[in-house]
Amino acid sequence: MQMNTLDKIKKSIHHAMKSVFYNKHFSGININDIKSIDDFVKLPFTDKEDLRHSYPLGLQAVPDEEIVRVHSSSGTTGTPVIIPYTKKDVQDWAIMFRRCYETAGCNNLDRIHITPGYGLWTAGIGFQAGAELLGAFAIPMGPGNTDKQIKMMIDLKSTVICATSSYALLLAEEIEKRGVRDKIHLRKGVIGSERWGDKMRQRIAGELGVELYDIYGLTEIYGPGIGIDCIHNSGMHMWTDYLYYEIIDPKTGKLVPEGETGEIVITTLQKEGAPLIRYRTHDLTRAIPGKCACGREYPRIDRIIGRSDDMVKVRGAIIYPSRVDELLAAIDGVSSEYQIMIDHLNGKDILTLYFETKLDLDAHASALEKTVEHEFKQRIGLIPKAKAVGMGELPRSEKKSTRVFDNRY
Ligand code: ZN
Repeated sequence: MQMNTLDKIKKSIHHAMKSVFYNKHFSGININDIKSIDDFVKLPFTDKEDLRHSYPLGLQAVPDEEIVRVHSSSGTTGTPVIIPYTKKDVQDWAIMFRRCYETAGCNNLDRIHITPGYGLWTAGIGFQAGAELLGAFAIPMGPGNTDKQIKMMIDLKSTVICATSSYALLLAEEIEKRGVRDKIHLRKGVIGSERWGDKMRQRIAGELGVELYDIYGLTEIYGPGIGIDCIHNSGMHMWTDYLYYEIIDPKTGKLVPEGETGEIVITTLQKEGAPLIRYRTHDLTRAIPGKCACGREYPRIDRIIGRSDDMVKVRGAIIYPSRVDELLAAIDGVSSEYQIMIDHLNGKDILTLYFETKLDLDAHASALEKTVEHEFKQRIGLIPKAKAVGMGELPRSEKKSTRVFDNRY
Protein backbone atom coordinates (compact mmCIF):
# COMPACT_ATOMS: atom_id res chain seq x y z
CA MET A 1 0.00 0.00 0.00
CA GLN A 2 2.72 2.42 1.01
CA MET A 3 4.95 1.42 -1.93
CA ASN A 4 2.04 2.07 -4.15
CA THR A 5 1.60 5.63 -2.84
CA LEU A 6 5.35 6.21 -3.01
CA ASP A 7 5.44 5.04 -6.64
CA LYS A 8 2.66 7.46 -7.49
CA ILE A 9 4.49 10.28 -5.75
CA LYS A 10 7.72 9.47 -7.60
CA LYS A 11 5.90 9.36 -10.90
CA SER A 12 4.43 12.79 -10.17
CA ILE A 13 7.84 14.22 -9.22
CA HIS A 14 9.33 12.80 -12.41
CA HIS A 15 6.59 14.47 -14.43
CA ALA A 16 6.80 17.78 -12.49
CA MET A 17 10.49 18.03 -13.36
CA LYS A 18 9.48 18.63 -16.98
CA SER A 19 8.38 22.14 -15.90
CA VAL A 20 10.83 25.02 -15.82
CA PHE A 21 10.10 25.59 -12.13
CA TYR A 22 10.62 22.04 -10.80
CA ASN A 23 13.52 21.39 -13.10
CA LYS A 24 15.31 24.11 -11.17
CA HIS A 25 13.67 23.55 -7.77
CA PHE A 26 14.69 19.88 -7.69
CA SER A 27 17.97 20.22 -9.57
CA GLY A 28 20.52 17.82 -8.16
CA ILE A 29 17.82 15.53 -6.75
CA ASN A 30 17.86 11.97 -8.03
CA ILE A 31 14.37 10.45 -7.88
CA ASN A 32 15.88 6.98 -7.50
CA ASP A 33 17.26 8.09 -4.13
CA ILE A 34 13.70 8.49 -2.79
CA LYS A 35 13.13 5.07 -1.27
CA SER A 36 10.55 5.88 1.39
CA ILE A 37 8.05 8.50 2.53
CA ASP A 38 10.74 9.59 5.00
CA ASP A 39 13.00 10.38 2.05
CA PHE A 40 10.17 12.14 0.25
CA VAL A 41 9.40 14.49 3.14
CA LYS A 42 12.99 15.72 2.99
CA LEU A 43 12.29 17.36 -0.38
CA PRO A 44 11.92 21.14 -0.27
CA PHE A 45 8.39 22.58 0.00
CA THR A 46 6.75 24.55 -2.78
CA ASP A 47 5.23 27.83 -1.61
CA LYS A 48 2.94 30.38 -3.20
CA GLU A 49 5.90 32.71 -3.71
CA ASP A 50 7.58 30.05 -5.86
CA LEU A 51 4.44 29.93 -7.98
CA ARG A 52 4.36 33.71 -8.32
CA HIS A 53 7.96 33.75 -9.43
CA SER A 54 7.03 31.21 -12.10
CA TYR A 55 4.50 33.61 -13.66
CA PRO A 56 3.05 33.13 -16.17
CA LEU A 57 3.62 29.52 -17.23
CA GLY A 58 6.72 28.27 -15.45
CA LEU A 59 4.72 25.44 -13.85
CA GLN A 60 3.54 24.01 -17.14
CA ALA A 61 4.78 20.42 -17.45
CA VAL A 62 3.26 19.41 -20.82
CA PRO A 63 3.52 20.81 -24.38
CA ASP A 64 1.18 23.71 -25.27
CA GLU A 65 -1.08 21.58 -27.44
CA GLU A 66 -2.16 19.60 -24.37
CA ILE A 67 -3.32 22.64 -22.37
CA VAL A 68 -7.06 23.33 -22.63
CA ARG A 69 -7.60 25.97 -19.95
CA VAL A 70 -5.95 28.11 -17.31
CA HIS A 71 -7.15 29.32 -13.91
CA SER A 72 -5.60 31.86 -11.62
CA SER A 73 -5.57 32.34 -7.88
CA SER A 74 -7.57 35.29 -6.61
CA GLY A 75 -7.71 37.83 -3.87
CA THR A 76 -4.02 38.39 -3.23
CA THR A 77 -1.88 41.36 -4.05
CA GLY A 78 0.99 41.23 -6.48
CA THR A 79 1.65 38.81 -9.28
CA PRO A 80 -1.10 36.22 -9.78
CA VAL A 81 -0.49 32.49 -10.03
CA ILE A 82 -1.49 30.84 -13.31
CA ILE A 83 -2.36 27.14 -13.32
CA PRO A 84 -2.65 25.40 -16.71
CA TYR A 85 -4.98 22.35 -17.05
CA THR A 86 -5.00 19.51 -19.57
CA LYS A 87 -8.17 17.76 -20.76
CA LYS A 88 -7.53 15.01 -18.21
CA ASP A 89 -7.04 17.55 -15.39
CA VAL A 90 -10.41 19.15 -16.19
CA GLN A 91 -12.08 15.71 -16.32
CA ASP A 92 -10.43 14.52 -13.12
CA TRP A 93 -11.59 17.61 -11.31
CA ALA A 94 -15.18 17.06 -12.46
CA ILE A 95 -14.98 13.42 -11.33
CA MET A 96 -13.78 14.49 -7.88
CA PHE A 97 -16.51 17.12 -7.72
CA ARG A 98 -19.23 14.66 -8.66
CA ARG A 99 -17.92 12.44 -5.91
CA CYS A 100 -18.24 15.42 -3.53
CA TYR A 101 -21.90 15.95 -4.42
CA GLU A 102 -22.60 12.23 -4.05
CA THR A 103 -20.82 12.12 -0.70
CA ALA A 104 -23.03 14.99 0.48
CA GLY A 105 -26.10 12.97 -0.57
CA CYS A 106 -26.96 14.95 -3.71
CA ASN A 107 -28.35 13.22 -6.81
CA ASN A 108 -29.54 13.89 -10.34
CA LEU A 109 -32.88 15.24 -9.13
CA ASP A 110 -31.17 18.07 -7.25
CA ARG A 111 -31.21 21.64 -8.52
CA ILE A 112 -27.84 23.05 -7.67
CA HIS A 113 -27.69 26.82 -7.15
CA ILE A 114 -24.09 27.93 -7.68
CA THR A 115 -23.10 31.34 -6.26
CA PRO A 116 -19.27 31.23 -6.40
CA GLY A 117 -17.84 33.30 -9.27
CA TYR A 118 -17.02 32.03 -12.75
CA GLY A 119 -13.93 33.02 -14.67
CA LEU A 120 -10.23 32.86 -14.02
CA TRP A 121 -10.90 32.01 -10.40
CA THR A 122 -11.77 28.32 -10.28
CA ALA A 123 -14.70 28.08 -7.96
CA GLY A 124 -17.90 28.43 -10.04
CA ILE A 125 -16.88 26.31 -12.99
CA GLY A 126 -15.83 23.44 -10.71
CA PHE A 127 -19.23 23.36 -8.98
CA GLN A 128 -20.81 23.49 -12.45
CA ALA A 129 -18.81 20.68 -14.08
CA GLY A 130 -19.38 18.38 -11.09
CA ALA A 131 -23.12 19.08 -11.09
CA GLU A 132 -23.40 18.33 -14.82
CA LEU A 133 -21.41 15.12 -14.48
CA LEU A 134 -23.78 14.09 -11.69
CA GLY A 135 -26.67 14.76 -14.07
CA ALA A 136 -28.16 17.35 -11.72
CA PHE A 137 -29.85 20.61 -12.75
CA ALA A 138 -27.19 23.33 -12.42
CA ILE A 139 -28.17 26.97 -11.91
CA PRO A 140 -25.01 28.97 -12.70
CA MET A 141 -25.80 32.17 -10.78
CA GLY A 142 -22.37 33.45 -9.84
CA PRO A 143 -22.18 35.95 -6.97
CA GLY A 144 -24.13 39.12 -6.23
CA ASN A 145 -27.59 40.48 -7.00
CA THR A 146 -29.36 39.11 -3.96
CA ASP A 147 -32.84 39.91 -5.37
CA LYS A 148 -32.22 37.73 -8.39
CA GLN A 149 -30.62 34.98 -6.29
CA ILE A 150 -33.71 34.71 -4.13
CA LYS A 151 -36.13 34.96 -7.06
CA MET A 152 -34.36 32.12 -8.90
CA MET A 153 -34.12 30.10 -5.71
CA ILE A 154 -37.89 30.33 -5.31
CA ASP A 155 -38.98 30.03 -8.97
CA LEU A 156 -36.56 27.27 -9.96
CA LYS A 157 -36.95 25.47 -6.61
CA SER A 158 -33.21 25.21 -5.91
CA THR A 159 -32.49 22.31 -3.56
CA VAL A 160 -28.73 22.73 -3.03
CA ILE A 161 -26.98 26.03 -2.36
CA CYS A 162 -23.23 26.32 -3.07
CA ALA A 163 -21.60 29.36 -1.45
CA THR A 164 -18.93 30.69 0.86
CA SER A 165 -20.07 30.69 4.49
CA SER A 166 -20.17 34.46 4.47
CA TYR A 167 -22.41 34.65 1.40
CA ALA A 168 -24.64 31.84 2.67
CA LEU A 169 -25.12 33.86 5.84
CA LEU A 170 -26.01 36.97 3.86
CA LEU A 171 -28.58 35.03 1.81
CA ALA A 172 -30.00 33.44 4.96
CA GLU A 173 -30.44 36.86 6.54
CA GLU A 174 -32.12 38.28 3.42
CA ILE A 175 -34.51 35.33 3.18
CA GLU A 176 -35.43 35.82 6.81
CA LYS A 177 -35.84 39.57 6.37
CA ARG A 178 -38.14 39.11 3.36
CA GLY A 179 -40.21 36.44 5.11
CA VAL A 180 -39.89 34.01 2.18
CA ARG A 181 -38.47 31.07 4.08
CA ASP A 182 -41.56 28.91 3.33
CA LYS A 183 -41.06 29.45 -0.42
CA ILE A 184 -37.48 28.11 -0.31
CA HIS A 185 -36.87 24.45 -1.24
CA LEU A 186 -33.23 24.12 -0.18
CA ARG A 187 -32.27 20.90 1.54
CA LYS A 188 -28.47 21.04 1.49
CA GLY A 189 -25.70 23.64 1.54
CA VAL A 190 -22.24 22.94 0.11
CA ILE A 191 -20.03 25.54 1.73
CA GLY A 192 -16.43 26.33 0.83
CA SER A 193 -14.37 25.33 3.82
CA GLU A 194 -12.81 28.26 5.56
CA ARG A 195 -12.65 29.00 9.20
CA TRP A 196 -16.27 29.37 10.35
CA GLY A 197 -17.59 28.76 13.80
CA ASP A 198 -20.40 26.56 15.03
CA LYS A 199 -22.59 29.55 15.76
CA MET A 200 -22.46 30.76 12.15
CA ARG A 201 -23.03 27.20 10.97
CA GLN A 202 -26.11 26.86 13.17
CA ARG A 203 -27.52 30.17 11.98
CA ILE A 204 -27.10 29.29 8.30
CA ALA A 205 -28.47 25.78 8.79
CA GLY A 206 -31.38 27.03 10.88
CA GLU A 207 -32.37 30.01 8.79
CA LEU A 208 -32.07 28.22 5.44
CA GLY A 209 -33.36 24.92 6.80
CA VAL A 210 -30.47 22.94 5.28
CA GLU A 211 -27.83 20.35 6.16
CA LEU A 212 -24.35 21.80 5.65
CA TYR A 213 -21.29 20.19 4.08
CA ASP A 214 -17.81 21.72 4.11
CA ILE A 215 -16.04 21.33 0.79
CA TYR A 216 -12.28 21.79 0.50
CA GLY A 217 -9.95 22.85 -2.26
CA LEU A 218 -7.72 25.58 -3.62
CA THR A 219 -7.01 26.95 -7.05
CA GLU A 220 -3.44 25.72 -7.09
CA ILE A 221 -4.66 22.11 -6.61
CA TYR A 222 -7.56 21.85 -9.14
CA GLY A 223 -9.92 24.12 -7.12
CA PRO A 224 -12.72 23.30 -4.66
CA GLY A 225 -13.77 19.66 -4.70
CA ILE A 226 -10.73 17.73 -3.45
CA GLY A 227 -12.52 16.75 -0.23
CA ILE A 228 -15.91 17.09 1.49
CA ASP A 229 -17.95 16.10 4.57
CA CYS A 230 -20.13 13.03 4.30
CA ILE A 231 -23.55 12.82 5.94
CA HIS A 232 -21.92 12.00 9.29
CA ASN A 233 -20.36 15.49 9.35
CA SER A 234 -17.26 14.16 11.04
CA GLY A 235 -14.52 15.64 8.89
CA MET A 236 -13.84 15.99 5.18
CA HIS A 237 -12.97 12.86 3.21
CA MET A 238 -9.97 13.62 1.00
CA TRP A 239 -9.61 12.10 -2.47
CA THR A 240 -6.27 10.41 -1.94
CA ASP A 241 -6.35 8.70 -5.31
CA TYR A 242 -5.61 12.17 -6.72
CA LEU A 243 -3.47 13.68 -3.98
CA TYR A 244 -1.17 12.91 -1.11
CA TYR A 245 -1.19 15.13 1.95
CA GLU A 246 0.89 15.77 5.04
CA ILE A 247 0.11 17.85 8.13
CA ILE A 248 3.16 19.82 9.23
CA ASP A 249 4.12 22.23 11.96
CA PRO A 250 4.07 25.57 10.09
CA LYS A 251 7.01 26.84 12.13
CA THR A 252 9.41 23.89 11.89
CA GLY A 253 8.17 22.21 8.69
CA LYS A 254 8.21 18.81 10.46
CA LEU A 255 5.27 16.39 10.38
CA VAL A 256 3.02 16.70 13.45
CA PRO A 257 1.84 13.58 15.31
CA GLU A 258 -1.43 12.21 13.89
CA GLY A 259 -4.45 14.13 15.14
CA GLU A 260 -2.58 17.32 15.99
CA THR A 261 -3.30 20.63 14.30
CA GLY A 262 -0.92 21.87 11.65
CA GLU A 263 -0.73 23.08 8.07
CA ILE A 264 -1.88 20.81 5.26
CA VAL A 265 0.73 20.30 2.54
CA ILE A 266 -0.42 18.67 -0.71
CA THR A 267 1.25 16.71 -3.50
CA THR A 268 -0.75 16.03 -6.65
CA LEU A 269 -0.60 12.44 -7.91
CA GLN A 270 -2.32 12.70 -11.28
CA LYS A 271 -2.08 16.32 -12.33
CA GLU A 272 -0.60 16.83 -15.81
CA GLY A 273 -0.74 20.56 -16.61
CA ALA A 274 0.78 21.90 -13.39
CA PRO A 275 1.72 19.17 -10.92
CA LEU A 276 2.64 20.39 -7.44
CA ILE A 277 4.93 18.63 -5.00
CA ARG A 278 4.73 19.37 -1.25
CA TYR A 279 2.68 22.53 -1.80
CA ARG A 280 2.18 24.59 1.35
CA THR A 281 -1.50 25.56 1.51
CA HIS A 282 -1.20 27.57 4.76
CA ASP A 283 -4.57 26.06 5.77
CA LEU A 284 -4.67 24.80 9.34
CA THR A 285 -6.42 21.53 10.10
CA ARG A 286 -5.75 18.12 11.62
CA ALA A 287 -5.96 14.55 10.38
CA ILE A 288 -8.87 12.67 11.93
CA PRO A 289 -7.68 9.22 12.98
CA GLY A 290 -9.72 6.08 12.38
CA LYS A 291 -12.44 5.15 9.94
CA CYS A 292 -15.63 7.13 9.35
CA ALA A 293 -19.02 5.66 10.23
CA CYS A 294 -19.96 5.88 6.53
CA GLY A 295 -17.38 3.18 5.75
CA ARG A 296 -15.49 5.16 3.10
CA GLU A 297 -11.78 4.38 2.91
CA TYR A 298 -10.82 7.97 2.09
CA PRO A 299 -9.10 9.54 5.11
CA ARG A 300 -10.48 12.64 6.77
CA ILE A 301 -9.25 16.06 7.80
CA ASP A 302 -11.04 18.39 10.18
CA ARG A 303 -12.66 21.65 9.16
CA ILE A 304 -10.16 24.36 8.26
CA ILE A 305 -9.60 26.34 11.45
CA GLY A 306 -7.71 29.21 9.89
CA ARG A 307 -4.59 30.06 7.96
CA SER A 308 -1.10 29.74 9.31
CA ASP A 309 -0.56 33.30 8.10
CA ASP A 310 -3.74 34.52 9.93
CA MET A 311 -2.36 33.70 13.34
CA VAL A 312 -1.51 36.95 15.03
CA LYS A 313 0.57 37.61 18.06
CA VAL A 314 -0.46 40.49 20.29
CA ARG A 315 1.42 41.29 23.52
CA GLY A 316 2.77 37.75 23.59
CA ALA A 317 -0.61 36.02 23.14
CA ILE A 318 -1.17 33.92 19.99
CA ILE A 319 -4.63 34.45 18.52
CA TYR A 320 -6.25 32.04 16.08
CA PRO A 321 -9.51 33.38 14.65
CA SER A 322 -11.10 29.97 15.32
CA ARG A 323 -10.50 30.39 19.06
CA VAL A 324 -12.35 33.71 18.92
CA ASP A 325 -15.24 31.99 17.09
CA GLU A 326 -15.49 29.43 19.87
CA LEU A 327 -15.24 31.97 22.62
CA LEU A 328 -18.00 34.19 21.20
CA ALA A 329 -20.20 31.18 20.42
CA ALA A 330 -20.33 30.39 24.12
CA ILE A 331 -21.67 33.82 25.13
CA ASP A 332 -25.45 34.37 25.07
CA GLY A 333 -26.57 37.41 23.13
CA VAL A 334 -23.41 37.59 20.99
CA SER A 335 -23.80 36.80 17.28
CA SER A 336 -21.33 34.93 15.05
CA GLU A 337 -20.06 38.03 13.27
CA TYR A 338 -17.02 39.87 14.59
CA GLN A 339 -13.97 41.81 13.55
CA ILE A 340 -10.61 42.34 15.21
CA MET A 341 -8.55 45.49 14.74
CA ILE A 342 -5.00 45.59 16.02
CA ASP A 343 -3.32 48.97 16.30
CA HIS A 344 -0.09 50.23 17.72
CA LEU A 345 -0.69 53.35 19.80
CA ASN A 346 1.73 55.11 22.15
CA GLY A 347 4.14 52.20 22.10
CA LYS A 348 1.48 49.62 22.90
CA ASP A 349 -0.48 47.07 20.87
CA ILE A 350 -4.23 47.57 21.23
CA LEU A 351 -6.72 44.90 20.19
CA THR A 352 -10.28 46.03 19.55
CA LEU A 353 -12.93 43.35 19.08
CA TYR A 354 -16.17 44.41 17.41
CA PHE A 355 -19.04 41.95 17.72
CA GLU A 356 -22.69 41.97 16.64
CA THR A 357 -25.60 41.48 18.99
CA LYS A 358 -29.36 41.18 18.51
CA LEU A 359 -29.97 42.71 21.93
CA ASP A 360 -30.79 46.38 22.48
CA LEU A 361 -27.47 48.22 22.55
CA ASP A 362 -28.47 50.92 25.04
CA ALA A 363 -29.61 48.38 27.60
CA HIS A 364 -27.07 45.57 27.11
CA ALA A 365 -23.90 46.74 25.32
CA SER A 366 -21.90 47.55 28.41
CA ALA A 367 -22.56 44.26 30.23
CA LEU A 368 -21.93 42.21 27.07
CA GLU A 369 -18.65 44.01 26.42
CA LYS A 370 -17.48 43.25 29.96
CA THR A 371 -18.37 39.56 29.55
CA VAL A 372 -16.53 39.35 26.23
CA GLU A 373 -13.45 41.07 27.68
CA HIS A 374 -13.45 38.71 30.65
CA GLU A 375 -13.81 35.55 28.51
CA PHE A 376 -11.13 36.73 26.10
CA LYS A 377 -8.74 37.28 29.00
CA GLN A 378 -9.57 33.84 30.42
CA ARG A 379 -9.17 31.91 27.18
CA ILE A 380 -6.64 33.84 25.13
CA GLY A 381 -4.66 35.63 27.77
CA LEU A 382 -5.08 39.31 27.04
CA ILE A 383 -7.78 41.90 27.60
CA PRO A 384 -9.20 43.35 24.40
CA LYS A 385 -11.30 46.46 24.05
CA ALA A 386 -14.71 44.94 23.21
CA LYS A 387 -17.29 46.98 21.29
CA ALA A 388 -20.86 45.79 20.69
CA VAL A 389 -22.57 46.81 17.44
CA GLY A 390 -26.02 46.07 16.00
CA MET A 391 -26.83 43.14 13.69
CA GLY A 392 -25.68 43.64 10.09
CA GLU A 393 -23.27 46.47 10.92
CA LEU A 394 -20.11 44.51 10.16
CA PRO A 395 -19.43 43.85 6.46
CA ARG A 396 -20.46 40.54 4.79
CA SER A 397 -18.56 39.41 1.75
CA GLU A 398 -19.17 37.20 -1.26
CA LYS A 399 -15.68 35.87 -0.92
CA LYS A 400 -13.94 34.79 2.24
CA SER A 401 -14.37 37.32 5.03
CA THR A 402 -11.43 38.89 6.70
CA ARG A 403 -11.83 38.97 10.46
CA VAL A 404 -8.49 40.28 11.57
CA PHE A 405 -7.06 43.62 10.48
CA ASP A 406 -3.54 44.12 11.70
CA ASN A 407 -2.72 47.81 11.34
CA ARG A 408 0.54 47.68 13.26
CA TYR A 409 2.91 47.48 10.31
ZN1 ZN B 1 -17.78 9.51 6.11
